[in-house]
Order: sequence, then structure tokens, then C-alpha cells
Amino acid sequence: MEKILIIHTGGTISMTENQSLGIVVPSDSHPLSENLAYLKQTASIEEDHLFDLPSPHVTPTHMLKLAKHIEMKLKEKPYQGVVVTHGTDTLEETAYFLDLYLTVDAAVVITGAMRSSNEVGADGLYNLIGAVRVAKDPESMNKGVLVVMNDEIHSSAYCIKTSSSSVATFQSPQFGPIGILTKQEVYFYHKWIEREKIHFQTVTKCIPLIKAFAGMDQAFMRAIQTLPIDGLVIEGFGQGNLPPETVAVIEEIVAEGIIVVMVSRSFKGVVQPTYAYPGGGKDLKDKGVIFVKRLSGPKARLKLLALLEAGYHRARIEAILEK
Ligand code: ASP
Repeated sequence: MEKILIIHTGGTISMTENQSLGIVVPSDSHPLSENLAYLKQTASIEEDHLFDLPSPHVTPTHMLKLAKHIEMKLKEKPYQGVVVTHGTDTLEETAYFLDLYLTVDAAVVITGAMRSSNEVGADGLYNLIGAVRVAKDPESMNKGVLVVMNDEIHSSAYCIKTSSSSVATFQSPQFGPIGILTKQEVYFYHKWIEREKIHFQTVTKCIPLIKAFAGMDQAFMRAIQTLPIDGLVIEGFGQGNLPPETVAVIEEIVAEGIIVVMVSRSFKGVVQPTYAYPGGGKDLKDKGVIFVKRLSGPKARLKLLALLEAGYHRARIEAILEK
């Protein structure tokens, strides 16, 4: 039988609902551990409890610890796959972080739940079974870190949590899932063609992520400029445009040697330097803003973090981010 390691990190998948109070709380023991009998008939399962965190408490420091833990475990034993259980709020960030960091052959799959273990229609055990099925499948190897929820397989770079409550929350709006699970099969039908590995060992940089809004002004940008920032990611309008009042400060930030990255606040399409009016993408690009296609703000932020931690200089960072 294939050896699969399950690493628990917390989240709703490890919580139970207190039905009298109507609140969801962490439980003393992992509620799914008692329900693994079915899985244990299909694979040789080992379990690790690394953290017990709601995922809004997860930071890049935890992500790095998890990445190193996976690396270490795979050196110790030839697991065919690793399944990480995680809260859904920041799952897409941990998944992408792992993908940037890990250079392992084993399948790495991350899953979570939208409903706690004792709620009607709880999806945790179902998603965990799906994640293990994908982790066991030889086709899952070398496909990057995969997000498996609700019978779909998503690549970590493109999936986002789209709904605050639906079990179908994880979607890849631009490209769709790369595979699906049926009752009997795991089907892959897309291949992720561009993957980046970045060698970094620390997560120290301060990189705020801000979102453009109508009327965003100079005072707002000045407030950002006073922070001790190492980089800045902006979710601009459409193809990467901003209100003209922000441009002078952005120019100053770039002149200080700080990398400013533009992604779109639209969740489909890509940024490109099209408009030359003040604050338009072409204007910003000419002033040194780097345009990142395809990634969401939180993921572009993690990629910039990894690149800065790796000690790359601006030209190399620009070349990688603008690819
Ligand atoms: N707030 C929870 C968390 O991310 C939500 C979930 O797991 O679905 O930990």
C-alpha cells in the first residue's frame, strides 16, 4: 500500500461546533483522527499534528516551518504523498508558499473544510479522503502543490477562496481546475506549465499588500511610505491602473530602491501596461512598477517575499516576476 503522511495544521477541518452556543471551536483531539478507518484500508497512513491554528493565525513563519517539516519527513521515509489539512482562509497562501519552496518529487496536496466535523453536511472527512486519493495517484507527482476540495483539483498558483461559506469555495477563476475526482477515478486534464522554485530560508521582509479604490489619494500612499517596507504589492484597477494622486509617492518609493509590484484587483485577466494617462499602467511601468501577470495579490506578495529573501537583485526579480 502507498505510504501517505497527513500533517494537520488546524482550521475548521479540525474543529467542532458547540451546538448550544452556535460557535465553532478547536477540539482537544483531531476529530478526523477517529474516522480514518476507511482511509487506512486504502493506504498506509501516518499522522502528524504540527500546529492547531485557525488559518488567520498562520504566518509565513509557520509556512516555512511546515515546508521544512515536509522536506525533513520526505528525507526520513519514502512517502508517496503528503496531505496537509489547513484552515481555508489562508490555505491558498500556504499552498503557494509550499509550491515555491519545495523541490520534492512526492505529491503534496492541501485540503480543508468549510463545515466543522459535527455539522450537518460536514465536508472535512470527504475532502481528506479526496486529498489522499490524489496524493496516492502516480499522476499527481511533479504537478506542484495541489489544492483538493469538493472533488476538484486546483493548482496552488491559481486557486482562490471565492466564497465565505460554500463548500465549492476554491476556484481557479481564470483557468479552471486542473483535474477532478469522480467516485472511482482521479482525472487530470490540465498541466501547469510554468513553475518557479526559489531557494530561501528566512521570511523577514515587510511587504504590505494594498488594494486600489476610487479616490485613493496621496495621503494614503504617504502613510504606506512611512512604514519600514521592503516591497509593496498593489492590486490596481483592471489592467493595472491607479488614481493619478498616488503616482508621485510611488515614484519616490521606487527611487528608494523598493520594489513595487502591480497585480489586478480583478480576479480574471492579467495586468499589462496599456494606458498612458497619469496613473495608467504604461505611466506606472515607465516609472518602475513591475507588472505581475496571473497571480493574485496575496500570491504575488509571497513570490516577492521569497525572491527578496533569496537575495536576488532588482533586475533578476523583475525578469522572474514579469515572465
Ligand atoms: N476560519 C477558518 C480557518 O481558516 C475557516 C476554515 O478553516 O474554513 O481556520
